[in-house]
Amino acid sequence: MNHSTGTLFIVAAASGAGKTSLVKALVDAQPSIRVSVSHTTRAMRPGETDGVNYHFVDRAEFTRMIDHGDFLEHAEVFGNLYGTSQSTLQQTLDEGHDLILEIDWQGAQQVRRLMPGARSVYILPPSQQALRQRLTNRGQDSDEIIDARMKEAVNEMSHYVEYDYLVINDDFAAALEDLKAIFRANRLQQKPQQERHASLLTSLLA
Ligand code: 5GP
Repeated sequence: MNHSTGTLFIVAAASGAGKTSLVKALVDAQPSIRVSVSHTTRAMRPGETDGVNYHFVDRAEFTRMIDHGDFLEHAEVFGNLYGTSQSTLQQTLDEGHDLILEIDWQGAQQVRRLMPGARSVYILPPSQQALRQRLTNRGQDSDEIIDARMKEAVNEMSHYVEYDYLVINDDFAAALEDLKAIFRANRLQQKPQQERHASLLTSLLA
């Protein structure tokens, strides 16, 4: 059968490093890669859509989902709860799609323990100054919030050593090529290739 299981990828970064835009561009270019939509208790930002960027729920609903064991992982980030629902995760991988979790370092640690086959990518900004600039350009938060987010960003970035791959997002196009290369190389590993090309291999060795 021409079928192999997809890989679970964790993609993490400090807020403002460009992770969401990079992941969106990757998936636009390679639609077979899927992105998990997390649940969160944080307020919706302008331009966000419920069910697309996140499933926006209140704390009571989030707590009920924890009690039901609905989450593969969940964590509190910057005062809000975030979690990855289990429901369609395994099915997506079984269908052969690579699946991206855009989660923080705490969630990444939980996923590594539970899914040892997961690969992880960390995206870094080219400098602290560039990161602050990107946080400021969003124009959605006050100076106090940006200062707090910078502190949070440095804490988040200190976990880069826990990831399999590092991508520096200085030039967007170059960072996107790096990200594509990681997914491509992963698909070319011997085991999934063997499954994909079973009949070719049989005929070559006949
Ligand atoms: P934001 O509120 O800016 O969209 O995300 C804030 C942080 O929460 C980011 O670091 C993001 O990766 C993380 N995050 C988003 N969804 C999840 C999730 O499902 N689980 C965990 N652990 N972190 C998440």
